[in-house]
Order: sequence, then C-alpha cells, then structure tokens
Amino acid sequence: MLPSVSVSQSPEDKFREYLASRSRPQRFTDQQRDMVNYIFSKHNHFDADQLIDEMKDESLQVSRATIYRTLGKLVDAGLLRRLEIGSRTYYEHDYGYPQHDHLFCERCRKMIEFQHPLMDQVQREIGDQHHFQVQGHSFVIRGICNECSRAMSTKRRLDLV
Ligand SMILES: [Zn+2]
Ligand SMILES: [Zn+2]
Repeated sequence: MLPSVSVSQSPEDKFREYLASRSRPQRFTDQQRDMVNYIFSKHNHFDADQLIDEMKDESLQVSRATIYRTLGKLVDAGLLRRLEIGSRTYYEHDYGYPQHDHLFCERCRKMIEFQHPLMDQVQREIGDQHHFQVQGHSFVIRGICNECSRAMSTKRRLDLV
C-alpha cells in the first residue's frame, strides 16, 4: 500500500457534494453512506461481487443493484478508479491515493502496486509526439508473483521425488 495523499474532504462529503451538484440532484442514502465508508476503510482492489460478499459478511445491508449503480457513480465522482483486467472490472481508491500502476498475478490474482518515475515521462513524451491531450493511462504487468512461482517450483520438486 502506498502512502495516501492528503485531501480536504472526507470521501463521504465528496460523494454527497457530487450527488447534490448533478443536474438532477440525488439523495445520499444510508446504504450509499455505508458503502462509501466501507470501501474507504481500507485500500483494496476489488470487483463488485467481492464487495457484495464482504459487505454481507459485515452485516451491511446493501442491495446488489445499489452496489452496481453506486460503483459507477463513485467512479464518475472521482472517488474510485476502474481497472479492467481481462474480462474483469476491479475498483480501487482514486481520491486521496497516489497515481500508480500494477503487477497482476495470473495465478492468485494478487495486485502489486508500483510507482516508477519513467511512467510519467513516457506518458508525456508519447502524448507530445501525437499532439494528444493525455488524461491518464492503464498499464498492467501480467505474470506470476514471487510466492506463486516459489510454490510452483516447490511442487515441481515434490513431484520429482
Ligand atoms: Zn500469485
Ligand atoms: Zn492499486
């Protein structure tokens, strides 16, 4: 987990403000508040199903439809970032969390975060070359994490015995 970036508002306040500022202002429901507070209680990469299961485990009553709808709004509001990996959509904090990229383990589906100064430079250089107004990028390195590759080589050794 990377060190967080200081922000002026709590995620809850920022989302309330977003809902109120829409052309058709929307009510901030208790379910949505529980969801925002739950999501922002820890930094994580999760998909909608995982969130549904975890919130159920915590006895937080939020309907499936509300979870799906609210995740979309949280992305629009700049609170969450969407990560598309293969056919799955993951979410993670954007608000109050620094820009970073990921290594994704194909075996255990772990995501490892990294920051590298060259990423910014590459993005800027390529944008300039194409006279392209860059707004961001997604970059995922796929492979097998250290733990999984160790477990695999241990298994291979045992298979040989
Ligand atoms: Zn792994
Ligand atoms: Zn991340």
